Amino acid sequence: MPYHPVLVVGGGLAGLRAALEARFQGVEAAVLSLVHPLRSHSGAAQGGVNAPLGNSEEGKDDTPERHAYETVVGSDFLADQDAVEAMTREATERIFELEHWGAPFSRTPQGKIAQRPFGGGAFPRTCYAADRTGHYLLHTLYQQALKYRVQVYIEWTALSLVVAQGQVQGVVALHLPSGEIETFSAGAVVMATGGAGRLYRKSTNALINTGHGLALAYTAGAPLKDMEFIQFHPTSLYGSNILISEAARGERGYLLNNQGERFMQRYAPRFMELAPRDIVARSVITELKEGRGFDGAYVLLDLRHLGAERILERLPGIRELAISFAGVDPIEEPIPVEPAQHYTMGGIDCNTWGESRLPGLLACGECACVSVHGANRLGGNSLLETVVFGQRAGRRAAELARAGASTSSEEPLKKALEEARTMIEGFKRSNGNEDPASIREEMRRAMWEGVGIFREKEGLEGAVARLQELGERARRLRPAHGGQFFNQDLLRCWELPGQLLVAEAIAGGALRREESRGSHFRLDFPQRDDARFLHHTLAHLTPEGPRFEPRDVAITRWPPEVRKY
Ligand SMILES: Cc1cc2nc3c(=O)[nH]c(=O)nc-3n(C[C@H](O)[C@H](O)[C@H](O)COP(=O)(O)OP(=O)(O)OC[C@H]3O[C@@H](n4cnc5c(N)ncnc54)[C@H](O)[C@@H]3O)c2cc1C
Repeated sequence: MPYHPVLVVGGGLAGLRAALEARFQGVEAAVLSLVHPLRSHSGAAQGGVNAPLGNSEEGKDDTPERHAYETVVGSDFLADQDAVEAMTREATERIFELEHWGAPFSRTPQGKIAQRPFGGGAFPRTCYAADRTGHYLLHTLYQQALKYRVQVYIEWTALSLVVAQGQVQGVVALHLPSGEIETFSAGAVVMATGGAGRLYRKSTNALINTGHGLALAYTAGAPLKDMEFIQFHPTSLYGSNILISEAARGERGYLLNNQGERFMQRYAPRFMELAPRDIVARSVITELKEGRGFDGAYVLLDLRHLGAERILERLPGIRELAISFAGVDPIEEPIPVEPAQHYTMGGIDCNTWGESRLPGLLACGECACVSVHGANRLGGNSLLETVVFGQRAGRRAAELARAGASTSSEEPLKKALEEARTMIEGFKRSNGNEDPASIREEMRRAMWEGVGIFREKEGLEGAVARLQELGERARRLRPAHGGQFFNQDLLRCWELPGQLLVAEAIAGGALRREESRGSHFRLDFPQRDDARFLHHTLAHLTPEGPRFEPRDVAITRWPPEVRKY
C-alpha cells in the first residue's frame, strides 16, 4: 500500500500548487488525478488572473485593499473579509512566482505583465496570457511539479476517503484504464478536485467536473458551505455552452438584443457589460423573457468594432472557438451567446489554511469554500484562489504530515479497500434496472429547471423532491456492461449517489435562503435580507438528508452596503 505524507487529490492548478508547496517544505507529496494534470479543467481558463499590480495607466493606483473591497462588494458581502484580504495581499507574490517559473504573460509596451479589465473591477487588474491563461499556468506548474519530483498518479479516481479514529487516513482509488483498486495511505489529504458544474444541464465546465470530490468529503463527514451560490456565466456559446470569456467584454465587446440595443444600459448603467456576472446573466435572461432575444434563446456578443488586429492579438482562442463551434467569425459577425452554469462558489468548508472540519483533510481551489467569493465570484479571482490557497493548504498539510497527523494504522485502509472491491463487484453483477446515464441527465435537468438563475419556493421544493426520488432509483443502478478496463459506466454508478447528495445540498440551501444575494436570486424574495441571512450556510450530511446550520460571516473592515453598478 503506497504511503505519502501529503496526498493531493486533483492535478489542476490548486492541487499542483499545494503539492509543490509541500515539497518546498521538505515533505514528500503525491498527486492523484482522474485525468492527466494537463487535461484538468484549469487549462480551459481563458481570461486571466487578478492581482493588484498596477501595471496599466488607469490602474496604477491599485492596491490589495482596493482589490479586497471590490471582491467583498462583488460577493454581496458574504465573503469572509479576512480570507479576502489574505488573498489580495498575497496575490502579487504568487503572480511574480508564476512569472519567474516561466508563465508567458502578455506584456505592456514597457514589458510589464499586461492587465485587462474584468467584471466588477474599477481598474484593469486581470493579468493574462492572450486568452489561454489557464493553459499556460497549468503547464508552468506541471513543469515545476516534475522538476521538484512530485509523484503523479495519472487516471486514478479517488472513490472514498478513509476515516478512522476521527482522522482521515488516506483514500481508496480506482485506476480506470486497468480497473485496479488500491488504497493510498497519507499523513494528510488535500482535496483539489475542482467544481461541480456538471450537476447542471447547461454548463461551461468539462465533463470531469462532476462534483464527486465534494461528495467524497461530504459523505466522510466534512460539511459543505454556501452550496446554494452557483455562478451562471452570461456568455456561453449558444447551443454548446462553451465559454466565451469575460475577456471579450473586458476588451470592450458589446452585448446586443434583437433591437440592436446595448441592453446593459438598462440594468447596470455605470459598469455596462462589465457588471458582475450574476447581474449580467440575469439581464440576459430578462431580455429573453421579455421578447428581446433571438429565437427566445440567445443574445449577441459583438466584437466587430474592436477590429481584426486586436481580436487576433488578444482573443485568438475565442475567435477559434466561435468559428469551430458556431460557424461565426467574430471579426465579421456577432457571436450568439446564452447563460450557463459556470462556477461553484460553495464547497468543502475550510479555513484560510485549507483545513476542513475533518482532521487530516484539507481542501483548496474550486472544491473548497474558504470563503473568498461569497455569493458571487468576480472573474479572475478563481485562478488567484487556486495559487494563493493551494500554496497555503500545501504548507499546512506538510506541517500536519510532519507532526504525524495520521495514525497510519493499516487496518481501516484494508477494510475500506475490501468494501470498495465488494461494491464494485456488486455493480458489475447488479440485476438493477436503472441506467446511470439516464438518472444523471434527469438530475441535471432538475437542477437547471428548479435551481437555476431565477428561483422560487415551488420550483426548489420540486427539485428537492425530484433529487430524493432519483436517489431512491439510484439504489438500483446497473452499468451498461461489467467490463474491467476503462469502464466509465461503472464509475458513473459509483459517483451518482454522491452527486445527488451534493445536488440536494445546493437545492436545499437555496430553498432555505429566503432572500436574494449575489448569484442566488429568489423571485419570491427579491431583496437581500441581512437581518435574517447575512450568514454562511453549512450543510452536514445526515441519514435524513442535509442538516443546515448558519455560520457568521467574518466582517473585518467593510460593513454591508447596497451593491450598485
Ligand atoms: C471555461 C472556463 C474558463 C474559466 N476562466 C477563468 C479565468 O479566466 N479566470 C479565473 O480566475 N477563473 C476562470 N475559471 C474558473 C477556474 O478556471 C477554475 O475555478 C479553476 O481552474 C479550478 O482549478 P482547480 O485546481 O480547483 O480544479 P480543476 O482544474 O478543475 O482540477 C480538478 C482536478 O481534480 C481531479 N479530480 C476530480 N475528481 C477527482 C477524483 N474523484 N479523483 C481524483 N482526481 C479527481 C481532476 O482530474 C483534475 O485534475 C474558468 C472556468 C471555466 C469553466
